[in-house]
Amino acid sequence: MVQNLLPECVDDVETCGVKKVVVVGAGIGGLATAARLAASKKFEVTVLEQAAGPGGKLTSFTEKGFRFDAGPSLFTLPHLIDELTELSENQSAFGYTKLDRSCHYFWEDGTSFIAWADRQKLAQEIQSVFGVDPMPTLKHLDHSRFLYDKTASLFMERSLHKLKSYFSREVIKALFSVGRLNLTTTMHKANANALNHPKLVQLFNRYATYNGSDPYRAPGVLNIIPHLEHNIGTFFPNGGMYSITSSVEQVAKDLGVTIHYNAPVDEILIAKNKVTGVATRDATHEAEVVVSNADVFTTYRHLLPHQKAPERILQRERSTSALIFYWGINASFSELHLHNILFSDNYREEFTLLQDGASISEDPTVYINISSKCEPTDAPPNAENWFVMINVPSNVNQNWDALIPKARASIVQKINRMLNTDIEPLIECESILDPRTIESRTSSHMGALYGTASNDRMAAFLRHPNFSQSISGLYFCGGSVHPGGGIPLCLLSARIVNELIENDYHAAHT
Ligand code: FAD
Repeated sequence: MVQNLLPECVDDVETCGVKKVVVVGAGIGGLATAARLAASKKFEVTVLEQAAGPGGKLTSFTEKGFRFDAGPSLFTLPHLIDELTELSENQSAFGYTKLDRSCHYFWEDGTSFIAWADRQKLAQEIQSVFGVDPMPTLKHLDHSRFLYDKTASLFMERSLHKLKSYFSREVIKALFSVGRLNLTTTMHKANANALNHPKLVQLFNRYATYNGSDPYRAPGVLNIIPHLEHNIGTFFPNGGMYSITSSVEQVAKDLGVTIHYNAPVDEILIAKNKVTGVATRDATHEAEVVVSNADVFTTYRHLLPHQKAPERILQRERSTSALIFYWGINASFSELHLHNILFSDNYREEFTLLQDGASISEDPTVYINISSKCEPTDAPPNAENWFVMINVPSNVNQNWDALIPKARASIVQKINRMLNTDIEPLIECESILDPRTIESRTSSHMGALYGTASNDRMAAFLRHPNFSQSISGLYFCGGSVHPGGGIPLCLLSARIVNELIENDYHAAHT
């Protein structure tokens, strides 16, 4: 493995001056990386973004008085945003509220369940809705905490591809617990063994979808995910999810980062295995360091056309994608909250079809997110902004024009059945996002939401590292590389990349 030393500087740190860094992409990972690097004052940072504004998948739009967050809707680990806003003296604290419940769940047989944040209330809800002892669920959540405590510092907070990451007390402790990490069983089997009601198993299986995976294939160690939601909590950012993007963009600007929008990068320039800058249509930007926040597949295929690509990594199974209907709803539904799930009656078949890729379940699990429940200005009075999403396969040029109307009809029928309503006449306006548009707007290969899937035990080790093993000065952040997709992991990738660059900078100057 080649150490990714920054191109050598002959002088000492003082006389060497600041290094120029270009970040390709203003997704949340790119903006966070830019802010962290600029805060160290050792780097002059420029971000080049192909779109007209920041955020990548984390954007927002308004239609007929309804504001919609276009992509992510679930916000966990808010301290990772606090860490960024604290980098800037100008920035006021990032505002958010801890929610008293994580989700409202509905089943076709009329069962509904509120996943309360408070353990006591959750236990009572399990007892009264499912009629079973809540202890196995509470123990399962304790096990989820155990998994998180044992694995987070290695799998989420460090580069897995640096030998020194493995020589720490936490890792050695984790190795001693390896038998209890559920590495050899699937998430579904672990849940079925631990929980005492099939609906609770389904509820816990759903956490695999938080990184676009399949609970019937993903390893049981993914049961760390419920720890984030149930033990730490879910949050709502003041102003909605987009305020995450705008806050981090502002921090970056406050710290002196220059951001150019409508500036697609055509190529990352390399000479003698070292980064020398990037080329856009109009200019060449010289840089000693380039961090790509673009999908790693796109980075190799389009921005590094003359470099050998890590094919084994690039060919890995992609995470699922999404089909979203943004509906302005001219009514108010008191049984719904911010996050709502209408479960499929045949969950296993839904995932089989997702893996197969050609069709979409006729009874898909429907997620309805309504930010106006927490931020009333997101919709006109007595109306709600519905973000209605189902998981769909990533894009392999399926006939989406035929699949989408069919899926829409299934969704409408399911909502009508399960909420006892007639939703169609209540839809004031509609926009649609599908795997093709996710791919074309953010250059995410196959429109995958979370880069590669985590459907096997080796997934964590087979994500692309945060640095290039053959090109000095080239780094990677964001959801398609280590540690993975989702806002918290993208923010952690920024932390890891910042640390790698700082370490390489020091190594080059001492
Ligand atoms: P991206 O958002 O992928 O952005 C990459 C940026 O790079 C883009 O702006 C793109 O335009 C730019 N770029 C690419 N190529 C070039 C180039 N050549 N030149 C210049 N710029 C370029 N996560 C959660 O935590 N919670 C959720 O509830 C959740 N739900 C989701 C729902 C949907 C519908 C989607 C789409 C995603 C969801 N995610 C969720 C995932 C989360 O949005 C992503 O993991 C995260 O936002 C990805 O950030 P990123 O830094 O990898 O960059």
